[in-house]
Amino acid sequence: MKKLIIFFYIIVISFSNIWAMDNPFLNKYDTEFEIPPFSKINNNHFMPAFLMGIDEHNKEIASIINNLDKPSFENVIIALEKSGTLLDRTGAVFFNLSGSTSDEEIQNIEKEISPILSEHYDSISLNPEIFQKIKYLWDNADDLSLSSEERKILEEKYKNFIRNGALLEGPEKERYSSINQEISKLSVKFSQNLLAETNNFEIILTKDDLDGLPDDIVILAKEEADKKYKETKDKDYKNKYIFTPHRSSMYPFLTYSKRRDLREKLYKGYINRGDNNNEFDNKEITAKISSLRVERANLLNFETHAHYVLDNTMAKTPEAVYELLDQLWQPALLRANKELEDLQSLVNKEGGNFKIASWDWWYYSEKLREEKYDLNDEELKEFFTLNNTIDGIFKTANKLFGLSFEERFDIELYHEDARVWEVKDRDGSHLGIYIGDYYTRASKRGGAWMSSFKDQSNFDGRERPIVVNVCNFPPPSNDKPSLLNLEHVTTLFHEFGHALHGLVTNTEYSSLSGTSVSRDFVEFPSQVLEHWAVEPELLKLYAKHYKTGEPIGDELIFKMQNASKFNQGFANVEYLAASYLDMDWHSLRTNEIQNTVEFENNSLKKIGLIDEIVSRYRTTYFQHIYSSSYSAGYYSYIWAAVLDSDAFARFKNTGEIFNKDLADKYRKFILEKGGTEDPMELYRSFAGSNPEISALLSDRGLE
Ligand SMILES: [Zn+2]
Repeated sequence: MKKLIIFFYIIVISFSNIWAMDNPFLNKYDTEFEIPPFSKINNNHFMPAFLMGIDEHNKEIASIINNLDKPSFENVIIALEKSGTLLDRTGAVFFNLSGSTSDEEIQNIEKEISPILSEHYDSISLNPEIFQKIKYLWDNADDLSLSSEERKILEEKYKNFIRNGALLEGPEKERYSSINQEISKLSVKFSQNLLAETNNFEIILTKDDLDGLPDDIVILAKEEADKKYKETKDKDYKNKYIFTPHRSSMYPFLTYSKRRDLREKLYKGYINRGDNNNEFDNKEITAKISSLRVERANLLNFETHAHYVLDNTMAKTPEAVYELLDQLWQPALLRANKELEDLQSLVNKEGGNFKIASWDWWYYSEKLREEKYDLNDEELKEFFTLNNTIDGIFKTANKLFGLSFEERFDIELYHEDARVWEVKDRDGSHLGIYIGDYYTRASKRGGAWMSSFKDQSNFDGRERPIVVNVCNFPPPSNDKPSLLNLEHVTTLFHEFGHALHGLVTNTEYSSLSGTSVSRDFVEFPSQVLEHWAVEPELLKLYAKHYKTGEPIGDELIFKMQNASKFNQGFANVEYLAASYLDMDWHSLRTNEIQNTVEFENNSLKKIGLIDEIVSRYRTTYFQHIYSSSYSAGYYSYIWAAVLDSDAFARFKNTGEIFNKDLADKYRKFILEKGGTEDPMELYRSFAGSNPEISALLSDRGLE
């Protein structure tokens, strides 16, 4: 028996040696800028690298614990900062790919590894011996002669330990850990259900069903059907047109299709995702997650999950969030009701004998916009190719901060659609790497986001970041380049604002670098950039017609500006309703499981949401709060909007949208500082005074 065990042991050792030899994660990447060597990475590398990463991390943690020297900043905090590199390296690639190029294998690995990782990180954040060392440092912080950033990182680590249950003991500690694992599993299931529900629904149309749709949209729908026909050989797809609940397919259809019955069918397909009482139903999952979150908050002595989450944000309390939402809700609803009246009169004028429903809003508001502002989305789109718009974001960064971008074609990435630029600072020095992965595809999550493959830090040598923007823009069709509508354009500026935060950052420690700031502050650098997107001075530089190269004319810019406040009642109501829904789910004081639909209905009825507008997210597909980290945080966008409107108004007030003095301050106090100081303090250092709500109300026409 003993022999057999030894024999097995040898086999395992030699297998792990084989893994070690060709597993790219095991060593620091030997590539330019340390970009992951994607062509050498395959799905078989993830699991072994994760497991070895956990093992290595455990050893590093053990050596911090077993160090008998008196705790010091060096032997505790810096040692922690340096630990877990293999795990970080593996996770950075894996979780980027699971968002942007997922497949069944990746989904299975994610299902398997998520609870293991959650347990592993809990074992550190709940480790009483590490906590004792940090507590010792925190209690003696005044005697350690720390820099302000070092003090901040110590404070963050100390508070994080407490927030992660460091003070829990015995059964409470066990329960805390099992709640985390359960939530993590449920979140993975939630996203996978949502992806399935989004991919499984489609409407298959014939030529006769396409009334009102512009050519390029028809072409994409045809290509989608052709692809499906090729894949499945199913005759139902032959010479047909497909529309799906992916937003890039659905919104154009809702905007232009004259077929009210089909608009209804597609929109219902979209809003019922996760609520179809099938194997992909998300009702119980979301109710269960919310319930587990209350229980966890209570274990940590917080009244609700919202109290727990908001404790370390700029808003600080649920009351402060509801106060801001309440200030905005009535003006927004009032305006939405006026918009609804306008839409209804348009229907009546056309002799339509029906009441506007939620699936009509896009179609009639587009008509009204064309009538009122003579602004046609399709005409406008011709000035915003993806390439022009990329030129626009780069010019903004250049004029504000002196950055330059050089596209590289000799670096291999994870997908043929992804592109990469080297970013250089004003003095020509290397600042970081920017990757853009812009086109929509079935293996990609919906929405748009910024993420990183490598973070910035200075404490252990100058490490510059690798950041990525992932979007869901329409790919080029056979005869046209990728053309963006205004929402896409602002999305690209938005995500690029996050990317700049991640690229320009200049902190000692990566755990406080770039976008590692409180969540209601993190959207400020992204949203503020959206203001530049539509400024005439910049538009003239980047918005050029895709056929003629003519810059966009004054007349069209004038129309765009007039139209910018159009439909803001709808947009704000849709957004605020989802913010209330999020806050309500997470202000529950009991962990009794709720009936999801009933809860949602009550929540929206309470604020008086009208039937003609559906909350921007319904519970069963509210990814931000159930599979991303925005629970009790969806309000953050409007919280940050107070800051971005105020900040941009300050640029405008100088008479120069690229004002050098303000841009320098913005770079120094906002972009470079990451999370090293209190956000309100940083804002005041940049702006010279507190932010005010008036600029936001005026921007959105809600005065
Ligand atoms: Zn954002």
